[in-house]
Amino acid sequence: MPTGKSYDVLVVGSGAAGLAAAVAAERAGARVALATKTTLQACNSAKAQGGIQAALGEDDSPEIHARDVMQSSHETANPRLVEVLTSEAPSAIHWLEECGVEFTRSNGGYRLARCGGASRKRLLQVGDRTGHAITKALRERFETGSGTALTHHALVELAPRENGWAATFATREGDSHILASSVVLAAGGRCYREAQTRHELSTNHANATGEVTRIALDAGAAERDLDALQYHPNGGAWPASMQGYSIPETTRAYGAVLANADGDEFTDSLGPRDIVSQAIFDEVEKGKGVLTPDGRPAVWLDTTRISVDDAEISLPYMLRRYRAGGIDPLREKILTYPVLHYQNGGLVIDERAETTLEGVFACGEIAGGTHGRNRMMGNSLLECTVFGRRAGNAAAEWAQT
Ligand SMILES: Cc1cc2nc3c(=O)[nH]c(=O)nc-3n(C[C@H](O)[C@H](O)[C@H](O)COP(=O)(O)OP(=O)(O)OC[C@H]3O[C@@H](n4cnc5c(N)ncnc54)[C@H](O)[C@@H]3O)c2cc1C
Repeated sequence: MPTGKSYDVLVVGSGAAGLAAAVAAERAGARVALATKTTLQACNSAKAQGGIQAALGEDDSPEIHARDVMQSSHETANPRLVEVLTSEAPSAIHWLEECGVEFTRSNGGYRLARCGGASRKRLLQVGDRTGHAITKALRERFETGSGTALTHHALVELAPRENGWAATFATREGDSHILASSVVLAAGGRCYREAQTRHELSTNHANATGEVTRIALDAGAAERDLDALQYHPNGGAWPASMQGYSIPETTRAYGAVLANADGDEFTDSLGPRDIVSQAIFDEVEKGKGVLTPDGRPAVWLDTTRISVDDAEISLPYMLRRYRAGGIDPLREKILTYPVLHYQNGGLVIDERAETTLEGVFACGEIAGGTHGRNRMMGNSLLECTVFGRRAGNAAAEWAQT
């Protein structure tokens, strides 16, 4: 039986989900350790650009949001998790604001955009660096609390012990053991590793390798939909410096459309992600695609239709990146092709974010059910916040009973 430092709650992963869980658990009075594979900043969440969904528009409601999620998932999502996600979305936004996130506003309210699969304008943004803003605010909250950050700690094993769990981490100094009454797994998805295996491009951070899911499955946790991986319809295809970049879906929310080699629109540019990605694959298959200068398949994204105002407020980072690569998206169309992006499925959780292992909770991309087999844009950062908070609170409560 390994010995090591002991905590009430051990959180694994420092993306939006892990940070939200750690902040919530610490506020609930638990002694928290937040362990992460490399630095606290290294994660997919910080790369998220487009935004976060919440039914805050006058013509919107959590029920309409839930209906959009179920439809986009082709009725494969868990309706109970979806109800939690959408009904807690407005309070999750206010919690993030209380933590220091400043969402972009216009005309006295939130600047809301409509994203793929959504029937209403519901996407809140912080420019086009929403994930960066959310993780920065949560990280600063965590760092001002009493929690312990364990950086360069890669989880390699999780084993039950009396009154909790024993976790083994690979560190620069060799193996390290941590004991905890409850554990929150928030180690994200596996699309970086999967893309390497498939010799494809991915939008993901190099730490998105999925071994923590495997560790949980080996410990006996149940999974769902793990085979359902999502392609982001708009990976950057050219210039080479933008290959693997996820062109924010807000480009399409603000008027950009997909077009084939003849300049014809061939799909609803704001359809659900899987349908839009498939339409691009099909168009290229039919010979209606365009080749990039280095011979890759692509179609056009006509970004010249975006107004200068919208682009400057909601797409400044994207504009900067493309202009640095020698292309001005407001003057010329850009080349795009789907790119491996998101693990839709994951560990089975209940409404408290508990997995099928007692005292082990999961939130964020590592968890399954909230999106079924096809996630809508903007619902991942939301899931990280809603279920991260729930996981942190439930793990703290578990440790205190
Ligand atoms: C480019 C890009 C743009 C996106 N845009 C949006 C968007 O606009 N809106 C939206 O809702 N979603 C978006 N997403 C999806 C969303 O950002 C992620 O799915 C979500 O943030 C995942 O959060 P997470 O906390 O679950 O995982 P991550 O943010 O990936 O964090 C996982 C953490 O676990 C750590 N870790 C991994 N393995 C181990 C291990 N063995 N031991 C210890 N720690 C480990 C990692 O280092 C990392 O800190 C985007 C994703 C990408 C890549």
